[in-house]
Amino acid sequence: MKIVVTAGPTREHLDPVRFLSNPSTGRMGFAVARAAARRGHDVTLVTGPVAANLRVPVGVMRVDVVSAREMYAAVRTAVQGADALIATAAVADWRPAVCAVCKLKKTAMSGVLKLVRNPDILKKVNVPLKVGFAAETNDVLDEASRKCREKGLAFIVANDVTQKGCGFGTATNRVTFVFPEGRQVALPMMSKQCVAQRIVRQLEQIKKSQGKPLASER
Ligand code: C5P
Repeated sequence: MKIVVTAGPTREHLDPVRFLSNPSTGRMGFAVARAAARRGHDVTLVTGPVAANLRVPVGVMRVDVVSAREMYAAVRTAVQGADALIATAAVADWRPAVCAVCKLKKTAMSGVLKLVRNPDILKKVNVPLKVGFAAETNDVLDEASRKCREKGLAFIVANDVTQKGCGFGTATNRVTFVFPEGRQVALPMMSKQCVAQRIVRQLEQIKKSQGKPLASER
């Protein structure tokens, strides 16, 4: 399959030296890209700013972006002729309405920051199979189920980021796959690399059950 993976956080600048972001490290997305490449898929990894020690997996094409709008543009290009999008990125939902060209003087700032919505990349792009992540702190499975249907996903990977060993920056994760028809598959705590393998295998199974030709065969 031709698979596009998003990873990491996005940064939404208000001036050249200040931005809004979140603690995503990109670990889960890089693990998914690695797992997919190891299983022989053609993988493009569109990543926000991540630590330099996260190495691009062998055989994976890496595209670096900073903001949600840059990620959206890069993903739209990358998904041309793709079979699947796996969106692990923690995309900032809002950005400052204006980004100043020069560093803002603190005396010139009012203390109120006007924000505007970013595009929902996963919801908007058109790919045959879409997989999302739902990192939640409460009503985890209900929220995941709603997002799965609203974004038109093949399945969503739900995780409770308040649990020990789960969520941002950890080496492990405990997730539940939630399907559009309501079915749920809860996985035990495992390394992010193992979670990534399970996600890729689940995607392969869905693709196989659909019996549709691969993008490369169309
Ligand atoms: O709605 P929520 O942000 O919780 O959805 C999470 C899922 O949607 C993740 O898979 C994330 O990568 C994706 N997403 C996106 N673009 C956004 C927000 C979320 O692709 N602007």
